[in-house]
Amino acid sequence: METILVLSHPEAGGALAKPALEVLNAALTLQRSGEGTKLFVGLIGENIQAAAESVANCAATKYLGVTGPEFSQPRYATDAAAAEAICKSVRATIVMVPATARWNRVMAGVAQRLGGRIDTHVTAVMVGEGAIAVRRWYYRQRMEAVLVRTPRPWIIGIDPGALPAGEYVRGPAAVEMISVPLSEAAKRTTVVGVRESAASVQTIRPDASLLLVAGAGWTKKQADGQTHLPEAEKIILGFLEASRASLGSSKSLVDLSGEGQAVLPFLSHLNQIGQTGSTPRHPKGLSTCCHGEEPHTVGWRFIGERRAISLDPNCGWARGKADVLYVADAFKVMTTVNALLTAP
Ligand SMILES: Cc1cc2nc3c(=O)[nH]c(=O)nc-3n(C[C@H](O)[C@H](O)[C@H](O)COP(=O)(O)OP(=O)(O)OC[C@H]3O[C@@H](n4cnc5c(N)ncnc54)[C@H](O)[C@@H]3O)c2cc1C
Repeated sequence: METILVLSHPEAGGALAKPALEVLNAALTLQRSGEGTKLFVGLIGENIQAAAESVANCAATKYLGVTGPEFSQPRYATDAAAAEAICKSVRATIVMVPATARWNRVMAGVAQRLGGRIDTHVTAVMVGEGAIAVRRWYYRQRMEAVLVRTPRPWIIGIDPGALPAGEYVRGPAAVEMISVPLSEAAKRTTVVGVRESAASVQTIRPDASLLLVAGAGWTKKQADGQTHLPEAEKIILGFLEASRASLGSSKSLVDLSGEGQAVLPFLSHLNQIGQTGSTPRHPKGLSTCCHGEEPHTVGWRFIGERRAISLDPNCGWARGKADVLYVADAFKVMTTVNALLTAP
């Protein structure tokens, strides 16, 4: 019988972020499938009461907290100490966390301290043949594997966006506090500020229902022998504003800035999709002015429905990588789409 622990932390406003709710929902599903399995929710932060109350209707056995101003910042020493203390206090055998930058940085070290094992970037957790199993992808999302492990505790980092978040009702929640003594050395690192992408508009929206991807074609000479960058910028930003889509890019396009060529200024390497970029999750994706090469399309693994607009009927998208390929001029198509989206 497993003892499951979900670890999380509130965001700046005190609420739990969607990836935390996705992990909690996965843990509740596990709990329901294994009779008698205990489920604990451990929260770390300056003040965690509001976060516990926001999921008060979930069937957790108990809420545990490590609180105080020194636990508000994402910092290895304090996060690891708090996570270790909570894991030990409930003798967790399965520890589930969102595979965010904060938890990924900390949990391998916590697994080492506990003598346990860890798997990150997990996309599903299930019970099969009496054992808990996880699913994850390897080789930049080209191969899928299902894993079971016998050593405990087993720490499982679940990729944000891979699972549903579930519904929760606010209510009173009793939180058992755990005291974690910290040495001065553990508080040595401090967060002095947050530096965000210099992009003038917010273009990366993980929760958007559509991903628009721009390829290098937007910057290439067109039929009239000229480039049309200002027009490309207006079309792409106009579409993002009207549709609230998230913006991705091919490696070629974001690399152009490094090579001193004319570029679209709102794109950075954070937008890059693919083998050396990200693998975002969205129900739909539309690729524009992009060739659809393998290292690029490997980042489209978790896009539900893929469409592409390219002038080249022989490009990679046409060879089975897109569900629908429009062999057309993206400048013309997207201008028409924008007119339709903004029509009164
Ligand atoms: C090890 C390795 C890792 C890589 N990792 C990545 C990665 O993570 N992500 C990534 O994106 N790439 C990656 N690449 C590069 C990848 O292989 C491609 O070279 C790149 O994605 C191609 O970018 P592109 O389609 O934007 O540009 P191009 O290949 O230049 O294609 C431009 C396209 O735009 C079309 N076009 C031009 N004008 C128009 C118009 N008016 N209307 C419609 N279509 C038009 C053209 O027909 C053409 O198909 C990697 C390569 C290697 C070797």
